Amino acid sequence: MGQRLLGKRAIVTGAASGIGRDSAVRFAQEGAKVLVVDVSESGLQETAQRIKQEGGEVAIQVADAGNEADVKAFVEHAHDTFGGVDVLFANAGISGGIPSMADITVEHFNNILRVNLLGVFMAIKEVVPTMIAQGHGSIVCTASVAGLRANAGSIAYSASKAGVISLVQTIAAQELLGTGVRINAICPGLIETGMTQPLFDYARASGKAEKLGQFAPIGRYGVPMDIANVALFLASDEGGYVHGQAIAVDGGLTSTHPFRPRPTSGPTSNPMPGFKK
Ligand code: NAD
Repeated sequence: MGQRLLGKRAIVTGAASGIGRDSAVRFAQEGAKVLVVDVSESGLQETAQRIKQEGGEVAIQVADAGNEADVKAFVEHAHDTFGGVDVLFANAGISGGIPSMADITVEHFNNILRVNLLGVFMAIKEVVPTMIAQGHGSIVCTASVAGLRANAGSIAYSASKAGVISLVQTIAAQELLGTGVRINAICPGLIETGMTQPLFDYARASGKAEKLGQFAPIGRYGVPMDIANVALFLASDEGGYVHGQAIAVDGGLTSTHPFRPRPTSGPTSNPMPGFKK
């Protein structure tokens, strides 16, 4: 067990799977008490079990991150159980597939924004008064490289993630100005999680596994712990001078112009040194 979040009280949404699960585990490994939130109770139980097995402290709340009453309830739960909130990782999100414009109904668009953008806003709104009153706190939101550039998600998904980045910038500069409370966004690249599993399964089943992550200059796709470690840094005091930023954690994906990936075998191969899934 480390001590980078020792004594901190954290909420992690979307913690039943993928990035949220590994982040909750990572936070607990560093001494945080973690309230894990998700719509999936069975997934939350698995996350909680992992945390408890390692001697961490965890509480569970089944909640829809896009529902105002649920958001109020999980923040209240953190107060009742841990006595406050020092860290919010607003991470829950849905992709909604990649429909064409003709197939995007207003209902579909609204639902993506409700969970991915309004949900993040509501959670921030609910924790900010306490954090400001105590003079410290760190809010981390999961955006996406899709919020930075086109072609990493659908129209609605990308708009929702660009919205998260704008929320972070604006809240940092206005509401949190000089308060001691920090807010940042992480923009993951391609990470193997529940959300992207169909893509990974398809690529592997069709013999194209080596193409996964090929557009990231680092030479591989990401795993949830790649994001969890950055979330930990931002949540902890080590990230104390990082504020209002949208940090791409994407193996360099958004750092480059389009390029031709190297072959994975032969004299110019890129063997992805040290990468183990
Ligand atoms: P995931 O599907 O493994 O995990 C997402 C979790 O959010 C699930 O447990 C799901 O049940 C939960 N969730 C969905 N809707 C919810 C709601 N309304 N209320 C509460 N919980 C809800 O996927 P992931 O990749 O770990 O996703 C985490 C975040 O990362 C999302 O915001 C996603 O948009 C973002 N992201 C993922 C990738 C990637 O490549 N996987 C890339 C960029 C951004």
